[in-house]
Amino acid sequence: MRPTKAIIHRSAIQHNLEQIKKMAPQSRIMAVVKADAYGHGLVPIAKSLAAADALAVACIEEAIELRNGGVTTPIILLEGIFESNELPLVAQLDLQLVIHNQHQIDLLKANPTDKPIEVWLKVDTHMNRLGFAADSIAEVFESVQQLPSVSVLRLMTHFACADDVASSMTQQQLDLFKSVTAEFDVEKSAANSAAVLAWPETHFDWVRPGLMLYGYSPLLGKEGHEHKLLPAMTLESKLFEVKTVEKGESVGYGAHWRAEHKTTIGIVAIGYGDGYPRHVENDAPVWVNGRIVPIAGRVSMDMFAVNLGEDSKDSIGDRVVLWGPELPVERVALAANTIPYTLVCGVTARVKYHWSE
Ligand SMILES: *Cc1c(COP(=O)(O)O)cnc(C)c1O
Repeated sequence: MRPTKAIIHRSAIQHNLEQIKKMAPQSRIMAVVKADAYGHGLVPIAKSLAAADALAVACIEEAIELRNGGVTTPIILLEGIFESNELPLVAQLDLQLVIHNQHQIDLLKANPTDKPIEVWLKVDTHMNRLGFAADSIAEVFESVQQLPSVSVLRLMTHFACADDVASSMTQQQLDLFKSVTAEFDVEKSAANSAAVLAWPETHFDWVRPGLMLYGYSPLLGKEGHEHKLLPAMTLESKLFEVKTVEKGESVGYGAHWRAEHKTTIGIVAIGYGDGYPRHVENDAPVWVNGRIVPIAGRVSMDMFAVNLGEDSKDSIGDRVVLWGPELPVERVALAANTIPYTLVCGVTARVKYHWSE
């Protein structure tokens, strides 16, 4: 069998949740498990997060999967509903809604639910993606509070630049959120992972960590272990070919990479068809037998080459780690000119998943 696997360490997720509790001791935790728990497996991860106060997903499809999987934790739909026909299920499955525009309020007005639902009003503090304009929130709050389909009402916002500790935008967004919501004595939420780590003033009643739960750092230039987090995924494969190439020989599509000296090349059984990024720099890091070796030539769909060096003692069948405790995914993300989010979310269905303790 092809040896390409993602091993998910559930104990790392539990450790990271404990770390978050220490970092935001006054806040409850809404653990973000959208996009298949950032590629780690929705239901198994949700079950490992039984100690979280709530779970957050992007859409009702993800919430249905959780309820069908036996998960009873409160669930928030971060983008609310897309269509009115979702509303009966929202009530039936006991989901909480984020409401971010008048269109969603109109849907709720026109389709009263059997049971009232808990709602989070989203305030746009100039990220300019979703949410009600900050100066309209008082009026919106009053109107939504009166709807018979709404029970508890809460307030939230989202930060554009919390990953950049040098940016002044987070403070500006925070000040605006505080000033327009001060008159409402309801629960509030603002912090994603970056804000949990770098902006304690943003923690409010609920924090909403995603990436850091899985052990990775959202802060520019940092790695999860620097925040005492443990990476939850090991993406690994094996060498399935080892060969010598002479000086001047090329390797891979486009004959793009050439050996500067005689060297040993290993072929690893993983490629962009598994979610490994194609657009990595030559010499992107790969872990083989306790050391980091560089990629040689282009990543193909099912495999790529690494330069093992002339003195290599590596053999067919040796284990290779693409990212995991041995090699932080943040480092691979830098070499691929992307962020760790896209790498862990992008692992494809061809990769076999194992959930360890
Ligand atoms: C995805 C998301 C989060 C989590 O963000 P991370 O950067 O992964 O911590 C928090 N809040 C909202 C509204 C989100 O969409």
